[in-house]
Amino acid sequence: MIKEDPGSPAARPLAGRVAVVTGGSRGIGRAIAGRLGRDGASVVVNYVQDRRAAQTVVQTIRSAGSEAVALRADVASKAAVDRMFARVMARWDRVDILVNNAGICPFVEFLDIPEDVWDRVQGVNLKGTFLCTQAAARIMVDKGIPGRIISISSVNALVGGPLQAHYTPTKAGQVSLMQSVAVALGRQGITCNSVLPGSIRTDINARLLDDPEIARANREWIPLGRVGDPQDVAGVVAFLASDEAAYISGAEVLVDGASFARRE
Ligand code: NAD
Repeated sequence: MIKEDPGSPAARPLAGRVAVVTGGSRGIGRAIAGRLGRDGASVVVNYVQDRRAAQTVVQTIRSAGSEAVALRADVASKAAVDRMFARVMARWDRVDILVNNAGICPFVEFLDIPEDVWDRVQGVNLKGTFLCTQAAARIMVDKGIPGRIISISSVNALVGGPLQAHYTPTKAGQVSLMQSVAVALGRQGITCNSVLPGSIRTDINARLLDDPEIARANREWIPLGRVGDPQDVAGVVAFLASDEAAYISGAEVLVDGASFARRE
């Protein structure tokens, strides 16, 4: 087997690019930030609370030979988002890749969803995606950068969930937003896509997914026979961020082990 020199352009296809990953301190966002860093990008690891975890991701990326910085911002706040992008510009003067990953999903029975929970989930998942997308796109357009905007939606953009009536519309909204922005910014060479993960094992759901009953049900239900890993999502994001995906825009990529295809 021919081994690739890790310093070669082929091994670091995102060298020279600056990537912002929202909610990059843990779970799927951590895997995406690490993968983009390994691919050569300078990475902004956005976080809202867990500074120490974000710093650990930054150290991992630096150990892999790329630049990284942790920046705090609540993506639901325009002022915080604008401050974050101003700091990115002060340091690198460009943004090439935005990954809208930050998201929350507090499970609540439909009849019990309080207004403030509805507002917060909309604020983080959908408004946060809008605010970050607009801020990044303004920079890309201003600098003539054929950027990449990728939103981590969910298979729940396509199917309902009894405890997620406040969450699924935000995930469908992200897909719709990416489609509109793909159309609006196509002439600038900017691509906008959505990634729709199915069940992905992260720190917050590992215990639930490891429950023997649930694990067995998942093995039987998911055609590929396993729940996903954050790296499964990160690999798709890295591809969509790469030059090879230059003609993919306004698209949705399911990363769900074929569970959506199994409509029975
Ligand atoms: P997670 O809770 O581990 O990660 C979410 C991240 O978002 C955390 O780092 C959190 O700090 C950050 N965040 C939350 N509110 C924020 C805010 N206001 N501003 C900035 N950052 C904020 O969850 P995860 O499973 O890694 O989910 C990541 C994304 O993937 C979410 O958008 C989620 O909807 C989506 N998703 C996850 C799964 C799954 O099975 N894990 C499936 C489909 C879609």
